[in-house]
Amino acid sequence: MSDDCLFCKIIAGEIPANKVFENDDLMAFHDINPAAPTHILVIPKKHIAAVKSARQEDSGLLGELVLKASEVARDQGLEADGYRLVINTGNHGGQTVHHIHLHLLGGRHMTWPPG
Ligand code: AMP
Ligand code: ZN
Repeated sequence: MSDDCLFCKIIAGEIPANKVFENDDLMAFHDINPAAPTHILVIPKKHIAAVKSARQEDSGLLGELVLKASEVARDQGLEADGYRLVINTGNHGGQTVHHIHLHLLGGRHMTWPPG
């Protein structure tokens, strides 16, 4: 838990979120400003600020994060048409919330390269 972290506050229940999944280690909730018809954030409950801060001991947790995103995508009916998973990192990566989160984007065709 980091006191000044928005997503830690969501995990603690201090800020409401439109949750789609929660267990002891992970949480998934709808992005407040969706960039696609389906836009869900999947986060570890452990405060890890960014990919660059992750350690070897986090490898299992980060694996669970990706597997959970694929499960949520299936539950949301995105599997047939596909979807995109994104982890923005640092300034050039466009990261604005410094608690690792996996964006699950679906429901429309994504362009490449990203903007
Ligand atoms: P990033 O720019 O990769 O750090 O992504 C942060 C994401 O968090 C953005 O897509 C925001 O729309 C989303 N966001 C910010 N505040 C909230 C909130 N209170 N509830 C849900 N999503 C949020
Ligand atoms: Zn946090």
